[in-house]
Amino acid sequence: MRGYESGLCAEFVEVIHRQAAGRRVSAVRVRVGARHAVTAETFRQAFCRAARGTAAQDAAVHLVVSPVTIDCDGCGRRTESMDPPLRTPARARAAAGAAGPAPGPSLAELDELDELDELDGAYVCPRCAGDRVTVSGGDELALEAVWFRTQAR
Ligand SMILES: [Zn+2]
Repeated sequence: MRGYESGLCAEFVEVIHRQAAGRRVSAVRVRVGARHAVTAETFRQAFCRAARGTAAQDAAVHLVVSPVTIDCDGCGRRTESMDPPLRTPARARAAAGAAGPAPGPSLAELDELDELDELDGAYVCPRCAGDRVTVSGGDELALEAVWFRTQAR
């Protein structure tokens, strides 16, 4: 498992545990921007691990991914993408030209992507594969909702 998701989850779990104030949590909803390159499955696994022994243990995790907006200087199009960032423009161009969803970065590449700043330029226009793009949004990281179990006293 990657350290990145574990770190994210540890922070979320800490906040949830504090909000819970002794109650048990039944479910949480977390919003994560596509730029964080987090997948639902790895996030859930990391969350479960981080939540062990806290109020959030056994809580259901709903992950909502927000898209990035890509404004292209080349063709003038604005598109939204749910894809994770690609490490290099070459990779991104290859993905834009390929049919089907873009492949995510490899694990080795992701290990280097700890800082969001490094992700700038990691998108290309899905229309023309140009790399002169302005990327906005998709960097959200928020705990949207927490549901608590009703307790019989
Ligand atoms: Zn374009």
